[in-house]
Formats: sequence, structure tokens, C-alpha cells
Amino acid sequence: MTTTPTPRIVVALDGPASSGKSSVGAAAAARLGLRFVDTGIFYRALTALALREGVAPDDGVALAPMAARVALGDDGSGVLSRVLLDGRDATDELRSDAVDAAVSTVARIPEVRAALLQRQRDLTAGGGIIVAGRDIGTVVLPDAGLKLFLDASVEERANRRIAQRGLDPQGEEAALVREQLGARDAQDRGREVAPLVAAADAVHVNSDGIGFDATVDQVVAAVTKAESSSVPAPESASAKAERSPRPERAERAEKPDRSDATGDEPGAKRNRKLEIAMRMDNHRTWLTTGFSFLCRCFARAVCSVQFEGLDNLPKDGPAIIAINHISSLDALVAGAWINEHIGDRRMHWLGKRSLFDIPVFGWMIAYGGVHPVDRGNADVEAYRLASRLLKAGFVLIVYPEGTRSPDGALQEAKDGVAMLAMGTGAPIVPVGVNDADLVWRKGRALPSPFPRRKVTVRFGKPFTVAEVLPKDVDRKSAKGLATRAIMGRIAALLDPRHRGIYADDAAAQDTPTA
Ligand code: C5P
Repeated sequence: MTTTPTPRIVVALDGPASSGKSSVGAAAAARLGLRFVDTGIFYRALTALALREGVAPDDGVALAPMAARVALGDDGSGVLSRVLLDGRDATDELRSDAVDAAVSTVARIPEVRAALLQRQRDLTAGGGIIVAGRDIGTVVLPDAGLKLFLDASVEERANRRIAQRGLDPQGEEAALVREQLGARDAQDRGREVAPLVAAADAVHVNSDGIGFDATVDQVVAAVTKAESSSVPAPESASAKAERSPRPERAERAEKPDRSDATGDEPGAKRNRKLEIAMRMDNHRTWLTTGFSFLCRCFARAVCSVQFEGLDNLPKDGPAIIAINHISSLDALVAGAWINEHIGDRRMHWLGKRSLFDIPVFGWMIAYGGVHPVDRGNADVEAYRLASRLLKAGFVLIVYPEGTRSPDGALQEAKDGVAMLAMGTGAPIVPVGVNDADLVWRKGRALPSPFPRRKVTVRFGKPFTVAEVLPKDVDRKSAKGLATRAIMGRIAALLDPRHRGIYADDAAAQDTPTA
């Protein structure tokens, strides 16, 4: 009888520039008998290709398709350090000053990151690899068997680089190295998409004041411990782990901040509410399960609810669920059932901030997955939070129109949802709620259960913005076009009276739930 060997661990190794990810990671991998890749070479390779062909390093539309022309090769020892561009070895081009200068600009582009995401994940097929980068533990491999964050102070990292290059520590070139390193740190940490940040469950290794070998020892020890303590992973367990990322687990362990009611400034209080909401785990709890059960009972008591296309809800990975908003009932009829069809994950919502001021209810929604948004403003804080949730693989429910329609017809949507989808690459599931406005009209305190009416909720096929935008569109027009694509797909799931200003866009869609 033959036994299949247990797949070896996949390790995410993140950290800032010059923290030693590549050298420490490769050395640790060699000692452990694992493969190694530094994903920075993908971004460097694409930059080299752009420079060769005179493509501007911020031209995402031109750059994203060029990612397919980059291939990685093994150096013979399990390190994927060779780069082929159009099948030709271009490894020597990756470390030029020109590539150094442009690579962070290329790496900031959402389309580029989206194009390289699956390529990086594919490298882990079969397991047994250390993958180094900036966003590996947070975005690329949120389910990695071990996440390491390798760090050192900027002075220490600069001094190592200065010594490596044999520069005079007091000279002008050394000053430039320090300056450039600081600037790259700022770019990597401050960028909108996939910023450099340690995953909540990462093990931190700080190499300040310890030598190379001691750092490698720490990494090897952490990997050995993680491998020996991991349950030999049968298929179902790993599939379950993939379905159920727990990126906020460490935060969940913290106690809620009780100082909320201490009469602080409203801004500080609001920030804490966001934090409270972020401490949640991505799994359903007795609170969310019980709450959605009560919502379903309530919805059934006031109307007859019918669903079409519920299977279109993705069972894993991030998703933006975009719903038309015609009644207070929308959240109940859609949310309470969506909760039952996204595996054992929980839903996250964006809701108007004033809801949080309602006693008890405000507390319940903060713990129930609702995150506050300033209505009518481009709320940068909420946008960042939403994009963080999506990048961590959560399911987010949004009303693109922002507020309930006064007459049941679609109103002009804000561009926020399109921007989120473009920035994160998350798929969008359009949802159309029909006739809920006849049951619970805007302005009424309670729904009217009589006469008993049917509310139909249709779920459309998931799609990504990249799939629906024309190839040569500039970023400015992309937002508007993406918003119309989202609203057109929602409109196609609505009866004609609800389609409003997106009726023409709906006509362009066919078999929306099939
Ligand atoms: O690590 P290295 O310096 O080779 O990375 C080159 C560039 O690629 C960096 O500017 C960094 O911002 C980017 N990068 C990234 N995400 C990764 C790996 C590298 O943005 N996972």
C-alpha cells in the first residue's frame, strides 16, 4: 500500500525593504528543505519589461496584461530566482538603478497587483515553500501555515546595505541609501493597495542587533515548530481553512474598549467603534446566527420571501455584495439569508454612522458586523476599513446608492463601490430586491404585513471590474464605467419599475442570475 506524503508547510514571510527576507528566507528554506521565492522579482521583472518597451511605470492598463509575459525559473537549488521575459533569461536586469527607481510605482498599481495575485498563489501548489514579499500574509496567502514578519530598524537596515556595498558610512552615497530606504518604507507602508503591514497572526522576528545566522535560526525554529504542531492536513481540513480565513483572530482576543462611554470627543469615540468592529472574527457566532434567525422569522411574518440565484454567492474568498436599497426590509430579507449561504463566514456591512447612536441597537450592530460610514462624504476611514476587510477575504455588503430610494427606483450610485472593487480586485455579486418597498415604506416606523405580499430577491453572477471594463480605459473614466456596470447588473435583477436611471444599462445584460 502506498501512502501520500503530507504536504509540507507554506510560509508567508513579509517585511520591509532590506530586512533580509531574501537572504534569510533562502538560507532558512535551504536548511529546511523547502523551496523559496521572493515575490519582489515579479514586480521587478514587470518594471524591467516596461522600461525596455517605454511603457510608463504608472500605466496600469498597459502593464497588467504584460504580467503574463513574466515567468520564474528555479536556480537549481529550489530558489525561484531566475526570471524569463518572453521566454528569455532577464535575471541580470532586475537589480538595475532604473528598476530600483521605478519598481515601487509599478507595485502600487491595483491592476498590476491583481494580475500577479494568482501567479503568486500558483507557486504554492504542492506546498513546501517560503514566499517572501510585502503582502503575502495579508493578501496573497492569508491561509499560510505560518506567517512571519521580519523587521529591523531603518538605521540597521541602511547600515547593512551600506556595508554590503562597501560605502563610506559618513559619505554622500551612504546618506542617499538611508534616504531611499526611508522613502521606500513610506511608499510600501502608505500605499492604498496591499500596504506593507504585519498580518494580525504573524510571528515577529526582529533582527536588530543579532547576526544573520541567529536570524536564520529563529526563522528555522518558527517553521519547525509550526510544522510539528500542525495537524497532518487531510483535504477537508485544509479546504475548510481556505474557506474560513481567520485574519482577525489575534484582535478578537482583546477585550472590547469599555471607555467608549467616557464622554470623549466624537472623533475619538468613532474611531474606537471602528476598532471594536474590526476586532471581530470572520466566523459566525451564536450572536450573528441567532440574530439572523430572528430577522428571518420577522421577515417571514411580514411578507413571503422568494429567492433566485442564491447559489451565486461565493463560498470562499472576498466578495462585495451590492444591493439596491428600497426599504428597511432589504437588510433583513437579503442579509439574514445571505448569512446562511456563505459557508461559516460572517457578513460585514457598511451602515450610516447615525445608526450607532441608537442605544442598544448601536451596540448590537457594531458587534454584528456593521461598520460606520459618513453619509454624503467620501469617508476615507470607512473606505480603508472596507478595503482591509476585503483584502483579508471577508464578505462585505454594500448599498451603492448610499441611501434608500424615495420611490423604489434606482437612484444615481456613488463611485465608492466601484473604487473598492477596483482597488481590491474582489468579485461583486449584484443583488436585486423587489417589492420590499410595498411592505415597509420609507418614512413608516413599521412594515405593513397586510395584504400579504411577495418580496423577490435575485442574486446575479459574480463578476470582477477587470472583466467588464474595456481594455484601453483610463483610470478616471474607469470609475464611472465600473459603477454603471455594477448598477446595470443590479437593474437587470429588478422588475422594470425598480430600474430607474439604470434601465438602459439593465437592457444590455442577459440571463443575469444564470
Ligand atoms: O523586495 P524587493 O525590493 O525586491 O521588491 C521590489 C518592489 O516590489 C518593492 O518596491 C515592493 O514595494 C514591491 N513588492 C510588493 N509586494 C510584494 C513584493 C514586493 O509590492 N509582495
